[in-house]
Amino acid sequence: MRINILFFAFFVLLAFVGCEQEDVLNPTKGTEQLSDNNSSLLSTINNGTYIFRSQLCPSNGISLPPSGLRILALRDNSVGWGGSAPMLHYLSLDPVILINLMLSMGLSGTTFLITVLPDVFIAPEFSSKFDTYSTLFHELSHASHYSKVGNPYWFNFVNGIVNNYLAGNDTYGDGTGNLDGFIGVGEMWGYYSGYKCTKDIFGWGYFDPYYSWFKPGILDRLVSSYGFTPAQIFACQTSDVNSHEKLKNKIISNYGYATQVTGVFEDYGF
Ligand SMILES: [Zn+2]
Repeated sequence: MRINILFFAFFVLLAFVGCEQEDVLNPTKGTEQLSDNNSSLLSTINNGTYIFRSQLCPSNGISLPPSGLRILALRDNSVGWGGSAPMLHYLSLDPVILINLMLSMGLSGTTFLITVLPDVFIAPEFSSKFDTYSTLFHELSHASHYSKVGNPYWFNFVNGIVNNYLAGNDTYGDGTGNLDGFIGVGEMWGYYSGYKCTKDIFGWGYFDPYYSWFKPGILDRLVSSYGFTPAQIFACQTSDVNSHEKLKNKIISNYGYATQVTGVFEDYGF
């Protein structure tokens, strides 16, 4: 029974303070179990954020997340999700939308959250550094996308999720909702970039190319089979690119290879 998540969850806000002394770049560290204490989770999130900003964004050629990012870590396995990047403290959401967004995430007892407006949530009771980093890199990839596209795009991204929740649909939608395109482009990038960053650090990562309707394997195929770089794909994800069709067309107009790019999208049903 959920009474009030804040009574049970540990939380903290991180305003990015830099890396602690820890050899997180050693891949064997990824199998290490997190200690059952909150400082272990927080230092992992803090270090991961530092690595993402200082190493992964430059090496992959993508924008840095906003510097004042507010990350909220909740130790709660019951919420049913691994993370979320609503960028709340940058968006001026209508209170009704904000409350419905919280409800769509399975959060109640929202007074504190609405006051603090975290940008990124990290939720479950993670038992390994690897899982924590994987979730963190997915969510920070959203934050980088937000840096590029700005508030109007992200407002539609969040609103699309809320609309799907209110309609009783999967919060990602199915590609037919009028705001699903924002979600599809955003999540395709989140799943692909989160995987790429995890692989860069640990040598491997979980990745389902056919996941959900937006099929993140499209981006992996463009990189691994046709030599596109993450930076090239990210450069095409401008604020006007709010559908798979528009992303495909922008990639082709910027870089060519129309036959190959069209073929990849078609292979995944687009
Ligand atoms: Zn996501």
